[in-house]
Amino acid sequence: MTKHIIIAGSGFAGTWSALSAARAVALAGKAESIEITVISPEPSLHIRPRLYEAVIENMDPDVGKLFAAVGVKHVAGTVENIHSDWHQVEVQLPNGERKKFAYDKFILAAGSRLFQPPVPGLREHVFNVDQLATAKVLDQHLKALPGRPPSPARNTVVVAGGGFTGIETVAEMPQRLREIFGAEVEFRVVVVEQAPEIGPDLGPGPRPFIEEALAQEGIEIITGTGVAAITGDSVTLGTGEVIATHTVVWTAGARANKLAAQIPGDHDRFGRVDADPYLHAKKAKDIFVTGDVALAATDNLGNNAAMSCQHALSLGRVAGHNAAAELVGLKLHPYSQPKYVTCLDLGPWGAIFSEGWDRQVKFTRDEGKAIKREINTKWIYPPMADRDAVFAVANPDYVIVP
Ligand SMILES: Cc1cc2nc3c(=O)[nH]c(=O)nc-3n(C[C@H](O)[C@H](O)[C@H](O)COP(=O)(O)OP(=O)(O)OC[C@H]3O[C@@H](n4cnc5c(N)ncnc54)[C@H](O)[C@@H]3O)c2cc1C
Repeated sequence: MTKHIIIAGSGFAGTWSALSAARAVALAGKAESIEITVISPEPSLHIRPRLYEAVIENMDPDVGKLFAAVGVKHVAGTVENIHSDWHQVEVQLPNGERKKFAYDKFILAAGSRLFQPPVPGLREHVFNVDQLATAKVLDQHLKALPGRPPSPARNTVVVAGGGFTGIETVAEMPQRLREIFGAEVEFRVVVVEQAPEIGPDLGPGPRPFIEEALAQEGIEIITGTGVAAITGDSVTLGTGEVIATHTVVWTAGARANKLAAQIPGDHDRFGRVDADPYLHAKKAKDIFVTGDVALAATDNLGNNAAMSCQHALSLGRVAGHNAAAELVGLKLHPYSQPKYVTCLDLGPWGAIFSEGWDRQVKFTRDEGKAIKREINTKWIYPPMADRDAVFAVANPDYVIVP
């Protein structure tokens, strides 16, 4: 009888789960008896790490052909409910129909969403770079600004949140505005960070470089206060200061997809499901969690996977392998990713490449930027190759680290 692996999501974790599961099934010679199905709104992988960039092209490579090449089915739809007790998921299809899919192994790879706290005006007035559709809305808004009457509000962009995404977004903004308006128009670009310092999670190593890069672009850094209210014309800070602006970009944090809450067991403060070393959800038999929905230890030193593409790629390979391995009798592969690197884009200044959880800076400026370019245009893209080439990099041991 055919056994079913169902994967929710075709992002980094979902795509690599599918490829890795297909590899394991092929290795065991069981392709005839295992069906692997990815369910997601469309058969494409959205390249979320690049959505802060000015040019929003080639951000959603097609994975349909890739899946077909390795025998994975794709169903367009959205998983709405996970019934772990009776091994079923309920899916909303594009035609409005609701359909149930039974699984032997289910992999939740539905990613994360921008966290939007109840700040007055936030939902109505902010832009974000969290999803491809919302990054396109921001892009269209910026490109339409020259059509508005000149005013301080038109010529000011405020980025709320000075973490990784906020810094990358704001660092790119002056150049983006110069390209839209021309060099002669003056802008005000501001980043607001609630913590006492910019890049609070990035630590002291990268900070001087971040400050230098933002200063070079004339970006104002406001720290120690948050955004208290937003209208279409202004943002009010916790200090009471009001900044006239038509453009507030919200970047402050992510939360696991709400489907994660339907999986029994412990969840962390980001809503991620507690996973064992093989990426089983600890309290739900036959469910694996991966990518941004998984709380998984990367090493024996107490570090957990970040909500990052870097971790999602490896988490995906391991979850897919293990889901298939349990069905075809292969050895399970424990998840381990002790090497951690970050590459932070700082706009025209360049980029910082760091190693370790304490972020020791190894490359800056053009050298860092060259690595960032390589990551953003090659390493994180799905392979468009033949079956054997795909399987060679779908190994759960495979890591891309410079
Ligand atoms: C602006 C920005 C910059 C970033 N920069 C970096 C960086 O420099 N380095 C880094 O490592 N990470 C970075 N990240 C984080 C990285 O993008 C995420 O950690 C990564 O995308 C997580 O991969 P994932 O596969 O778990 O989820 P996602 O990429 O979010 O994919 C989720 C998939 O699930 C699908 N889905 C959602 N809901 C459902 C549902 N109900 N049913 C079925 N399918 C569903 C989606 O359509 C999508 O296919 C950045 C993120 C952003 C937004």
